[in-house]
Amino acid sequence: MKKYALVTGGSRGIGREICIRLAGLGYHILINYKGNESAALETQQQCIALGVDAELLKFDVGDKSDIEKVLGAWVTQAEKNALVEVLVNNAGVRHDTLMSFMSDTQWSEVIDTSLQGMFFVTRTVLNPMLMNRFGRIINIVSLSGLKGMPGQVNYSAAKAGMIGATKALAQEVARRNVTVNAIAPGFITSDMTADLDEKELSQMIPMKRFGKPEEVAALVGFLVSKEAAYITGQVISINGGLYS
Ligand code: NAP
Repeated sequence: MKKYALVTGGSRGIGREICIRLAGLGYHILINYKGNESAALETQQQCIALGVDAELLKFDVGDKSDIEKVLGAWVTQAEKNALVEVLVNNAGVRHDTLMSFMSDTQWSEVIDTSLQGMFFVTRTVLNPMLMNRFGRIINIVSLSGLKGMPGQVNYSAAKAGMIGATKALAQEVARRNVTVNAIAPGFITSDMTADLDEKELSQMIPMKRFGKPEEVAALVGFLVSKEAAYITGQVISINGGLYS
């Protein structure tokens, strides 16, 4: 049976580094992305160079029918000889503005990508994982979902929702050796934070710097390992000491 790791939003940033880390651990990789094909191809090449298979799965995690069409079809067709053993719900977007000015679209796109996406994608791959009696689900949330950030009512709500779901699902599936955890990064250098003043914001971080996508990926690498078998339902922060 070929063992796969599915990383949503695997084309760029934190997701790309997670793909590379999991490929290094020997997983075949399913790289999900929404539209940036050239970035997804770059991730694919880097995974293949590590000696594993890497497939691109283009679908919008906020679109249930797109997930069924692309991921559902992959799961059905792969049923007997391939399994998604690791799922990283990483796709996310920011549309920051104060609540008074927040449009319906700014609200729903952020909720759909993080919270709805996590639900639909996880449900699609969960049953085979449970039947296999081993699995790892990791949800990439945010400091914003723990403490709330002004200008991010949508994003804070989406990530806090994912945290609640992580804790509930962990209890549902623990007896099948499927662990469910969340990682809450602080500020990490990527396209998502490219518009922020990194130098100024770094001053309020005890480590005086943004984190690197590879540092988040290293934590994913530990959580998928056999050594992390007894860790479930947790939210692990990785933020340079910004919040605890
Ligand atoms: P990024 O560089 O902006 O990359 C976002 C990724 O998500 C891309 O691969 C993008 O695909 C994908 N994506 C966006 N919407 C999607 C959709 N509807 N369907 C499928 N894929 C979609 O972001 P990042 O910084 O790596 O963030 C990764 C995760 O970490 C996010 O959940 C984010 O909320 C979280 N996070 C980031 C930070 C930070 O400081 N960077 C802090 C805390 C949490 P395309 O390339 O096709 O557009």
